[in-house]
Amino acid sequence: MRQVKLFDTTLRDGAQTEGISFTVEDKLKIAKLLDKLSIHYIEGGWPGSNPKDIEFFKRAKELKLKNAKIVAFGSTRRANVKPEDDANLKAIIEAGTPAVAIFGKTWDFHVKEALKITLEENLKLIEDSVKFLKKNGKEVIFDAEHFFDGYKANPKYALKVLKAAEAGGADVLCLCDTNGGSLAFEVQEIINKVKKQVKKPLGIHAHNDSECAVSVSGMAVHCGVTHVQGTINGYGERCGNANLCSIIPLLKLKLGIDCISDEQLKNLTEVSRHVAEIANLPQSAHQPFVGRSAFTHKGGIHVSAVIRHPGTYEHVKPELVGNERRVTISELSGISNLLYKAKAYGVDLKKDTPEVKGLLARLKELELEGYQFEEGEASFELLVKKTHGVFKPPFTLESFDVVTVKHGIEATKVKAKLRVKVKDKDEDKFMETEAYGDGPVNALDGALRKAIENIFPVIKDVKLTDYKVRVLDSKAGTAAKVRVIVESTDGVKTWGTVGVSTNIIEASWFALLDSIEYKLMIEGKT
Ligand SMILES: [Zn+2]
Repeated sequence: MRQVKLFDTTLRDGAQTEGISFTVEDKLKIAKLLDKLSIHYIEGGWPGSNPKDIEFFKRAKELKLKNAKIVAFGSTRRANVKPEDDANLKAIIEAGTPAVAIFGKTWDFHVKEALKITLEENLKLIEDSVKFLKKNGKEVIFDAEHFFDGYKANPKYALKVLKAAEAGGADVLCLCDTNGGSLAFEVQEIINKVKKQVKKPLGIHAHNDSECAVSVSGMAVHCGVTHVQGTINGYGERCGNANLCSIIPLLKLKLGIDCISDEQLKNLTEVSRHVAEIANLPQSAHQPFVGRSAFTHKGGIHVSAVIRHPGTYEHVKPELVGNERRVTISELSGISNLLYKAKAYGVDLKKDTPEVKGLLARLKELELEGYQFEEGEASFELLVKKTHGVFKPPFTLESFDVVTVKHGIEATKVKAKLRVKVKDKDEDKFMETEAYGDGPVNALDGALRKAIENIFPVIKDVKLTDYKVRVLDSKAGTAAKVRVIVESTDGVKTWGTVGVSTNIIEASWFALLDSIEYKLMIEGKT
């Protein structure tokens, strides 16, 4: 079977993403995740340009990676300097990695305009930079910068550049679509010509400015390229780099190339989400293969078909990449969505029963009121389980009072008073509490916790991580209904709950109450 090596540059090219700033700790964490995924090469950074990267290479040695080789990146030597005296090449060697990637100019226009040296000199410095690194025992990946644009402008010269790197002893000649403007059919034509002219294995490094980086990379492999560079989640400057989270399943599941094992492929979704968390950017829900919505079905007809035969609306099985099939609860939902969901919650609902009809009617009513359960699914699960009688809330609200006071320029104070009836060991107790908060929701949250925390200590673990308010009928002005979504976590699980009312405090209370009830439900406290 054909071998294709995966080369990740999340830590180097991916770190150029606007909004991303990796610490050394972040980079070490990502390297470990990439190793777990069994990526063959991890480009760690540019030691010649950045002290943070030097630190990374030092500490990366302690990682004891099982699968991946760490790679240091840099440029060819400067003109008029011997390789052994070139600070950048020296820094690459000092990084102490088994493999290195160096880039050289391939487009004649850049050689003349950016480097301001002759075309011949450029060939010379590429060849002896590679030779120098090889002499120092490195595996050398030569990145032919702007290869495709260079080839389109001056094919003879672009080929000479590859041959210079080959003469220097480069192990891989990586063809870069640095500006991301090439289309797959152009790449196909060019690679088919190039592969007849050079002997060393070819690689591909594509940027995504035409939204073609993944298809260009797939095409390159189809043409015989055996080394593919990209980043997790397609991070990178401008529109990003080729997305390894798409390329890996494409190679495995469509081209039949065993670049990582089936078991490792199941880590892909987790790695994508974890790296997004480290990057502090939300993972795009619509990202192919690994996004939250990649296998989410909403239309009722689609759902009933997918339940019978997943292949009807899914091109691959979600579990192969560690993702899951989801069905949303929305106004499009029919009976099949409801039954599918209930089954996932472990509730056995039977089609055509009064219970199911009642639940559907209630669902339609709530949706009409402005409820939407896509972000507040825990509220929906509670509704199903309460209706089915498998969950009975152990406490009920008797009343609350929320007072907001503002005197002159003094800071606003909010006090919440709450009375709840709690079941404690089959005995009804009435708890009355008060709490102050930064705002009404915070104060209510505080008062509720005071009231029931001693009886149900598990709720101490619950933290509210997000709070969103959406005005539903803005034409009604300040009398408009609002929908509040609360996101909570107990450190292990994350769940969303929803509340709707014309009163923002009441809407927030509904969402807050569901959040606490949900935690009690998963802990089996009924
Ligand atoms: Zn790049």
